[in-house]
Amino acid sequence: MNNCLPHNNQPLDTETLPSVLARIHEEVVTEYGKGKVADYIPALQQVDPKQFGMALRTVDGEEFYVGQAETNFSIQSVSKLFALMLALEIVGDDVWRRVGREPSGMRFNSLLLLESEGGIPRNPFINAGAIVISDIIATHSSIPSKRIEDFIASLSGNKNNRVDSKVAAGEKATGFLNTAIANLLKAMGNLHGDVDHTLECYFKQCAITMNCIDLVRATECLANRGNSTFQTGEHKPVADKRINSLMLMCGLYDAVGNFAYNVGLPAKSGVSGGIVAVAPGQYTVSVWSPELDHYGNSVLGQLALEKLTIYTKTSIF
Ligand code: GLU
Repeated sequence: MNNCLPHNNQPLDTETLPSVLARIHEEVVTEYGKGKVADYIPALQQVDPKQFGMALRTVDGEEFYVGQAETNFSIQSVSKLFALMLALEIVGDDVWRRVGREPSGMRFNSLLLLESEGGIPRNPFINAGAIVISDIIATHSSIPSKRIEDFIASLSGNKNNRVDSKVAAGEKATGFLNTAIANLLKAMGNLHGDVDHTLECYFKQCAITMNCIDLVRATECLANRGNSTFQTGEHKPVADKRINSLMLMCGLYDAVGNFAYNVGLPAKSGVSGGIVAVAPGQYTVSVWSPELDHYGNSVLGQLALEKLTIYTKTSIF
């Protein structure tokens, strides 16, 4: 698409949103067949590829959605966003002693940089970084996966956002690369707990089930200065500036530059085809469509978000 358009960063016109989302839906479904579902995690292989859902929630609490926005899916790497929020809540800036804040420019499950950079992963959204975050959560929690589930459910307001244990078990059985990453981290002194225990926490967090509507609610705090309508209990405000900047630089694997260029919003994707994005001060938006491009990002999802920021002129730039 030609996105060399002026006048971005406009206030969102909610009156036109239902027709904008309907138009996006109609336009993107013509792109089915251009990507492939992730096949290295057994449960993801079985998902019907021709599905598309999209939800948008404004900071005033208005919600709009189209397509399969209420269909549950395994959030995979989108969970890394919530795990980072939780780890920052638990240990604060000490997270950054063990994980960097730079894009990696490598595949999300690559081992290459880890060894040459002394066991400090480039950022919390590649697998190595996310496994260190799991280690932080696991070493500070009695039942780590329950703590993440409860944290996510408290943000989304949906108690059904739980681990799908079949998905987690399937990934555990085939997760040789993640096991290698965890062992390398352990050997290099950046994994403090037990390797298997940490991996179990990691696989389970990736297997948490949500839908597009849950995702826009759970990330509201990132658009709304750290505050969330649904969050209950004692929580520190979410470090929205910190997390949004990391999403912008590191949230879409090694295609993050292209995504920032085309869409212009901080976002986080996962290999199940979900993407959640934030327009600070305005809205959160999520898309889900399982067919992925070469980098592991949803083909229809990226296109839908590009169209959204063009049609509504709400890129942050
Ligand atoms: N559980 C997946 C893995 O570790 C997550 C990958 C992703 O969504 O980026 O490979």
